[in-house]
Amino acid sequence: MTARGGTSPVLIAGGGIGGLSTAIALSRRGFRVTLLERSAFAEESGAGIQLGPNATRALRQLGTLDAIEAQAFRPEAIWLFDAISGKRLATMPLGDRVEERYGAPYLTLHRADLHAGLLQLCQSHASIELKSDFEVTGVEERDAGITACAADGRSAEGSMLIGADGLWSSLRARAAPGAMPRFAGQTAWRALLPRAQAPSPYDAPVVGLWLGPGAHLVHYPVRGGKDLNLVAVVEGGEPAHGWNQQGDRAALLANFARWAEPPQSLLNMAESWRVWSLHRLRPLPRWSAGRITLLGDAAHPVLPFLAQGAALAIEDAVALAASLDACGGDRALAFPRYEALRRKRAEQVQRAAEQYGRLYHLGGPARLLRNLLLERRRGVTLLNGFDWLYAVESRTG
Ligand SMILES: Cc1cc2nc3c(=O)[nH]c(=O)nc-3n(C[C@H](O)[C@H](O)[C@H](O)COP(=O)(O)OP(=O)(O)OC[C@H]3O[C@@H](n4cnc5c(N)ncnc54)[C@H](O)[C@@H]3O)c2cc1C
Repeated sequence: MTARGGTSPVLIAGGGIGGLSTAIALSRRGFRVTLLERSAFAEESGAGIQLGPNATRALRQLGTLDAIEAQAFRPEAIWLFDAISGKRLATMPLGDRVEERYGAPYLTLHRADLHAGLLQLCQSHASIELKSDFEVTGVEERDAGITACAADGRSAEGSMLIGADGLWSSLRARAAPGAMPRFAGQTAWRALLPRAQAPSPYDAPVVGLWLGPGAHLVHYPVRGGKDLNLVAVVEGGEPAHGWNQQGDRAALLANFARWAEPPQSLLNMAESWRVWSLHRLRPLPRWSAGRITLLGDAAHPVLPFLAQGAALAIEDAVALAASLDACGGDRALAFPRYEALRRKRAEQVQRAAEQYGRLYHLGGPARLLRNLLLERRRGVTLLNGFDWLYAVESRTG
């Protein structure tokens, strides 16, 4: 296939889930890509990830679903519990139900497996050049193109630059000067356990969601079912950057002293926890400026209560490549088209994630009312309530 967009490649800053997906999506549409990643393409968060059918449908469009699914797990349901009483409140079916309704699976997997699957596919595309240890520290825009510069003096030339550089994006300032993520007052703790060590009900092939006042816990199988991933989110904590901070286990466990014995014993089993401060960012007035546009967490970080941040980044990738393709590689036409396809969707998911967070952490009489309503809902009705989120092919172009 002839390269699109002339001889100049599309530059992507950031080789996380969004950047790698974008490289694949563009390459499949005939564009040449140079992807600049500040690390050695390592996914070091040591954590799991859930991918709803909107994400797996987009991965299928990228031609990577089969490889990724081989490392993943297909949970049969989400079990919702009240964390204080320990009572199971509702069961939302996943597995075949999701596949039948949305035409794509619900998967849980290790982030490193998702990242490695995307990276391998990038490496197999001749039109994608990967540059590691390249931190974009400067950008020079000209009439004819754009140059991304690294601190060590290296540079890369392209026709446009996609900022897929995550929550702490430095390219965001180009489109929205002064926009900074603010600490959401919540902290996520993550751990992995061998699944064979986990007693019932944690050996079940499901996602477990324990709802408590001011905190919740999610667990699900990863690594094809060999390990169990735990994510606990609690109100409070100190704002900090990055994934790789070791958490103080005793401080975490103190938040769960009032919880029922089964989730407490699960939390006790994990020896090593990593901490992540949650941040929110107001919707940006625009994602693009000149030859630069943003994607994934750089454009619209999402609180993790709906497990949708990476899903949105993968959807963005498909939509951006489709827009550039439809506009013959002309970014001046394609960027507004991409934003029109994606902004409302991203803002809707951001808002919904905040609302779910509040619902998960209710205390007092509101908690009891929530529980009652959940107990009255049929599982299938619960699933159908996510149609707006999971059935969205048209919004990716
Ligand atoms: C606790 C928690 C749980 C979550 N669970 C889920 C889930 O279950 N499902 C889901 O879909 N999402 C989930 N998310 C969200 C998801 O992790 C993010 O939305 C997703 O990783 C965003 O991808 P990205 O590519 O935009 O950014 P990132 O994954 O952050 O990637 C950015 C990349 O850019 C690189 N980079 C940064 N600056 C530069 C630079 N100047 N030059 C070059 N490279 C640079 C970084 O090294 C990194 O590789 C969760 C998030 C949290 C906090």
